[in-house]
Amino acid sequence: MKKIGFIGLGIMGKPMALNLLKAGYELTVYDVNPEPVKEAGAAGASQSASSKEVAANSEVIITMLPNSPDVEKAVLGPGGVLEGAQPGAILVDMSSIAPLVAQKVSAAAVEHGVVMLDAPVSGGQPKAVDGTLSIMVGGPQETFEAVKDILLVMGASAVLVGDVGSGNTTKLANQVIVALNIAAMSEAMVLATKAGVDPEKVYQAIRGGLAGSTVLNAKMPLALEGNFDPGFRIELHIKDLMNALDTAHEVGVPLPLASQVLEIMQALKVDGHAQDDHGGLIQFYEKLAKVEVRK
Ligand code: NAD
Repeated sequence: MKKIGFIGLGIMGKPMALNLLKAGYELTVYDVNPEPVKEAGAAGASQSASSKEVAANSEVIITMLPNSPDVEKAVLGPGGVLEGAQPGAILVDMSSIAPLVAQKVSAAAVEHGVVMLDAPVSGGQPKAVDGTLSIMVGGPQETFEAVKDILLVMGASAVLVGDVGSGNTTKLANQVIVALNIAAMSEAMVLATKAGVDPEKVYQAIRGGLAGSTVLNAKMPLALEGNFDPGFRIELHIKDLMNALDTAHEVGVPLPLASQVLEIMQALKVDGHAQDDHGGLIQFYEKLAKVEVRK
């Protein structure tokens, strides 16, 4: 079994790392926050003081960090992965970052004899805990085959979609679909509630029909309880939609609906909701219509 390093033990990374430990992998971990490092240590991981040290001890290095600059810092920066990695090591960046940055980091890795896959995930914290994430991978086929078993400990599926960077392009498409679904759910449920129908009954009545969706099933029960604890923070979804717009404009695609939902999320951020779950987008509509969608 390959020796694995894991960098970034946040909402997603910590349960993913714990699943690798449970599957019997030898794991070395690092996060700038010492708390989750100690927790993973208590579960059997070797604790490390830098990304460089993780890389020096690992054949496969996984990063699960917030955004492009964090990945650049942890991989390319001083004390970073490339300072410690052995030639022949594989870097799997599972963060959601800009596709062009994934390609840039990959090119730098190749110069050090390290091959990189970009392998962002969908499914959120519950699926990170269950090990049932959907993983979308960009990079060479043989590198994908070499780490597929490891990916399938964390995910129910891992699909190679193309060259490095295309994992993140796929994730951007995913995030546009999720954002628009949450906005559609919010708009519709505020309408039904203010028109006088119990939103829980509306949810039960429509969830099996064409309007039903994974997003509706994941986010509506939480909205009914007024539970907007993250999950996936609004500020991270803003990052993904900004990356989606940049990429779309570069290739000549307008995103009229995604840009509207981005501005709704921006308004929520200004209103103090940046750390809420993205399902908390419904609060924008609730404020506009002066009604709460609750049980
Ligand atoms: P998070 O902020 O909870 O976790 C990120 C972790 O990285 C934190 O523990 C932070 O301390 C650590 N970190 C930051 N910079 C570091 C560095 N230079 N070196 C070492 N550690 C560093 O974020 P998250 O929700 O776990 O998301 C991680 C990635 O996964 C993001 O790109 C996000 O968009 C994506 N994602 C999240 C979800 C979700 O539901 N939360 C779902 C799918 C994808």
